[in-house]
Amino acid sequence: MTSTQEARTYVLSFCEPLAPTEVPLTEALGLVLAGPVRARDAVPPFANSSMDGYAVRSQDVAGAPARLRVVGQLMAGDDPAGAQVRPGEAVRIMTGAALPEGADAVCMVERTTLDGSGWVVVEEAVAPRANVRPVGDDIAAGQDVFGAGEVVGPAHIGVLASVGAQMVRVTPKPRVGVVSTGDELVEPGAPLGAGKIRDSNRPALLSALRLDGFQAVDLGHAPDDEGALARAIELAAEHCDAVLTSGGVSVGDRDLVKVVLGQLGGQSARWFQVAVRPAKPFAFCVLPRGTAIFGLPGNPVSALVSYELFARPALRRMGGHRLLGRPVLLAKAAEDLQREPDGKLHLLRVLLSVGSDGDLEVARSGGQGSHQMLPLARANALALLPDGPGVRAGERVSAWLLSAEPLSSDPAR
Ligand code: AMP
Ligand code: MG
Repeated sequence: MTSTQEARTYVLSFCEPLAPTEVPLTEALGLVLAGPVRARDAVPPFANSSMDGYAVRSQDVAGAPARLRVVGQLMAGDDPAGAQVRPGEAVRIMTGAALPEGADAVCMVERTTLDGSGWVVVEEAVAPRANVRPVGDDIAAGQDVFGAGEVVGPAHIGVLASVGAQMVRVTPKPRVGVVSTGDELVEPGAPLGAGKIRDSNRPALLSALRLDGFQAVDLGHAPDDEGALARAIELAAEHCDAVLTSGGVSVGDRDLVKVVLGQLGGQSARWFQVAVRPAKPFAFCVLPRGTAIFGLPGNPVSALVSYELFARPALRRMGGHRLLGRPVLLAKAAEDLQREPDGKLHLLRVLLSVGSDGDLEVARSGGQGSHQMLPLARANALALLPDGPGVRAGERVSAWLLSAEPLSSDPAR
């Protein structure tokens, strides 16, 4: 058996970031920057008011209360040219409006009272620069705002928009095809004949890919036939950066995916018996044109766990990500998580929650068979039980957080 670490290292050694491309800013969300981004303009581009109030000379209001003549007004977006604050004067100003010449501070409107028409009484002194946002207070012109490797989130989009970036250089999303294999599979909506099952791996894997920010391509299902499998995989490789197959990598008579990958992948092809449960069988190869093929196991839980272990980190690397795994959390076992020693790492489908004492805790989300999808659907984490007798209630266990949803504070939900 091969350790998960060793098999993952092998796979990653074939998966490099894709060639960078330029995308419009509106399409950059979730992508990884392929190079630094320089700000053309400063943000803010001019000194402006952070309050609705009056632009003043701070020295005029040092002995507040001070009565000033209101000589103009500046709204956000107004050109400040011509507006000027001379001794004894104030300009009515709104948040975001440019500071007029002569003024060095803004008094909040709440600390003023109007005094007849055209006059205002400032009731409180303000320090120089009070309520003024200077030029470049957030970003200086010419500054590198982000470096390569940064993952573009909503706030990055905001920053890039504010500095006038319209196109950004990113690593593209890998395009990933999914082919399920097996003579027993029927398509959704088709009658479930004797001995047949509905294909659940393909929609599950396509969804995992989408959620993880990859381009998912549905390539249908292929029968347990060497020629048909080879054709399906080669066809997929023509327009994909990577292909996921499910089924046909175990030790059954019709487990032909591993055979076909062996033929198509030459030296790169490997068939692993991974020291992990679930997801022991796994096949991998790279086609001559460079497409990585992940032969995931057929059992539904194994297929998704194998995706987590091998495909997801590799695809993230292809997408330019530097952090490839899931967040690892340390939690308390809310129940005994016993297991038999068998030389394997066990990945338990668990519900991670916040216990009554505020500590993270985990409990099994249901049965742990590799065919039992429902407990995986209910789980939000995989607990890592290293080889041995398992973990007793109250002991600590590491878990990979699979979900971005908030953690329930009620372990039973
Ligand atoms: P295999 O590795 O091809 O022998 O498949 C292992 C188990 O997973 C068998 O019980 C298959 O019927 C089942 N299986 C394979 N592919 C799928 C699929 N796409 N959806 C649901 N179950 C599957
Ligand atoms: Mg099969």
